Amino acid sequence: MTYLFIADLHLSPEHPRLVRGFLDLLSHYQDKNTQLYILGDWFNAWIGDDYSAPWLDEVVDALKVFNHAGNNIFFQVGNRDFALGQKFLNQFNAIRLPDIYTVKIATQVYRLEHGDALCTDDVSYQRFRKIIRNPIILGILKSTPLSFRQKLAHGFRKQSHASQQQKPYAIMDVNTQAVAQALQHADVLIHGHTHRPEIHHKFNKTRIVLGDWRERTSEAMILEVDENGTPQFLKWILA
Ligand code: MN
Repeated sequence: MTYLFIADLHLSPEHPRLVRGFLDLLSHYQDKNTQLYILGDWFNAWIGDDYSAPWLDEVVDALKVFNHAGNNIFFQVGNRDFALGQKFLNQFNAIRLPDIYTVKIATQVYRLEHGDALCTDDVSYQRFRKIIRNPIILGILKSTPLSFRQKLAHGFRKQSHASQQQKPYAIMDVNTQAVAQALQHADVLIHGHTHRPEIHHKFNKTRIVLGDWRERTSEAMILEVDENGTPQFLKWILA
């Protein structure tokens, strides 16, 4: 059994190489009895499970094959694809995990989360997150036409990009206290979001930050853990 952790792929029709890289990853791990954990921002934007497009059909088909080969897929939402629901995942028997999820591998307790909730110094973002993740607001949004949501998502992305330019680098990283709290009942914390791939060791605990997928560098840091609990931080190269 292989546990595979990835995050921040930001798949979209605008970046076919990232999509191709993900499809390649699925075939690479297809015969390894893989438990695939996608820790958010799988997609660059998600406007609803009623969205469909040829590029996405190809991804869904590959996921079906991957699942039929005996592998399991687990998904946690990120700040870009929080609207992705169980309905989409049902097509390939994937499971939507709660925002914070713990899994035991060998003797270690792993805590999984996207990572945006750990960035508590970014007060304006946390305020926005609270509003947009409100089930009532999300419910209203889901009832609006697809074209409206498309425009809205575009607006959000532009605004978020603009505000990121103005924020100091440190504010957009995880907060030390939030991390300590997250590790209180876990040995290892795995998250993405910050795009600062690294393994941090502190007080006998480990924090592994997964890398984002980039066309520019053609690589992404992913994490493989075998059933004995041995982790391997790997570079996934995009073809
Ligand atoms: Mn993110």
